Amino acid sequence: MAAKAMLQQPGVERVLVLDCDVHQGDGTAAILADCAAVFTCSIHCQKNFPVRKRQSDLDVALPDGIEDKTYLDIVEQTLHQCLDIVQPDIVFFDAGVDVYRGDPLGRASVSEQGIVQRERLVLSTLKRRGIPVATVIGGGYDDDRWQLAKRHAIVVEQAIALHRASWSVGASLRQDACANIR
Ligand SMILES: [Zn+2]
Repeated sequence: MAAKAMLQQPGVERVLVLDCDVHQGDGTAAILADCAAVFTCSIHCQKNFPVRKRQSDLDVALPDGIEDKTYLDIVEQTLHQCLDIVQPDIVFFDAGVDVYRGDPLGRASVSEQGIVQRERLVLSTLKRRGIPVATVIGGGYDDDRWQLAKRHAIVVEQAIALHRASWSVGASLRQDACANIR
């Protein structure tokens, strides 16, 4: 719905939804099936819920127990493929952390460091290409809520780390602007 709303904005003609939750983005695929301006890509474990998958514009089905190196290579390759095909004006990134190897509802086997690398990879690639990104947290299940919250925070931490330099420039510009007004 946010992707569709963005299409009403000037300068936004193509949107990419990159869904890295371990479960297929079946709802997104279904809702946006008829929306040619939004490209949906889901990278998920083949044997995870839902049993009956919907058809995204690009579905990448992963085997059980996939580990960091192979997983990150696939995410990187898929991201570049999508960006080259779609040339999006904005990307929605579902940073599901249920790819974590200890997640009770996920069949992947990605480490916490692997999740850090995934978020850095996606965000830095988009920054390099000058494409705005909206990140949302996705799935992630753990009885230890503190550990789970820390895992969900990774995407925000990586975004802050990556954009800190440009923010400080922005902050000084804002200070200058305020000084001028005074
Ligand atoms: Zn999920």
